[in-house]
Amino acid sequence: MADLTAFQSWIAACSESITAHADDLTELDRAIGDADHGSNMRRGLTACAALAEQEDFASIDAYLKKVGMTLVSTVGGASGPLYGTFFLRLAGPLAASEDVGAREFGQALRAGVEGIVARGKAEAGDKTMYDAFSPALEAFESAAGSGCELAEALREAADAAARGRDATEPMVARKGRASYLGERSAGHQDPGATSATLLIEAAAKTLS
Ligand code: ADP
Ligand code: MG
Ligand code: MG
Repeated sequence: MADLTAFQSWIAACSESITAHADDLTELDRAIGDADHGSNMRRGLTACAALAEQEDFASIDAYLKKVGMTLVSTVGGASGPLYGTFFLRLAGPLAASEDVGAREFGQALRAGVEGIVARGKAEAGDKTMYDAFSPALEAFESAAGSGCELAEALREAADAAARGRDATEPMVARKGRASYLGERSAGHQDPGATSATLLIEAAAKTLS
């Protein structure tokens, strides 16, 4: 069961991982975008990681809502509102929880991913962060449904996200800035699918 402290560790781990990979994310975005995804995400997650020291949060959902709002106001670009929506929606199903288990986290993850779709209208195969989030959600629900605990279901989700991320390489982008390149977007891994995988991998390491 993951408590508020565990969720704060997750965000701290996201910040560390995004910072460590910021240059790689920017290089991926240089190939099919405008070379700012790493710096956008590093700025956002650094601000989020600082929240735990700035404020005492009464609950997991209050904390995740603040994370979402902070991402909306600091990341910018296409990904800021999408990741912001993800964390804001993630908070919803956790409103009454002090300790989150696999079943509840599954409901939150579904709400978060549906929020990304509601905002960005991405479908599978469009070469976006959804191509990592969608298989991650599916793997999580399948693992949790067959009785896995939170950490184990997240491990399955992280592996599925990584496979989804890798599968974006040959895709032709149909959403976001990369879609302006048409066929020339093929042959490059999507930056947003790459950062989404880092966030889920960080969850697998911290939430249990
Ligand atoms: P920008 O393209 O505005 O510079 P970023 O570089 O921060 O923003 O983010 C780009 C990433 O955002 C893409 O790699 C893609 O994964 C994601 N993205 C863009 N548009 C959408 C969308 N409509 N739905 C889901 N994800 C999207
Ligand atoms: Mg960009
Ligand atoms: Mg940009």
